[in-house]
Amino acid sequence: MKLWLDFEPCKKCARYIADLTDEEFLFADDITRNEMSSKFLRHLTYNHPEVIHSISKEVKIQQIRPEFDLYK
Ligand SMILES: [Zn+2]
Repeated sequence: MKLWLDFEPCKKCARYIADLTDEEFLFADDITRNEMSSKFLRHLTYNHPEVIHSISKEVKIQQIRPEFDLYK
């Protein structure tokens, strides 16, 4: 699933995004990657409710499509 998000990342977001796209992270094991992603998601949940709102909106739209697979 691909999501396009249109929002203003704060300094912390920029830091998370930098970490998440870092080569070290890209080659890290699943546990580390999941941990990092959930930390970022948690930050978004508490600090950027508009992002969560647009994600759930997008998920609803994608659910209608037959090729939708949330767990891919
Ligand atoms: Zn942020």
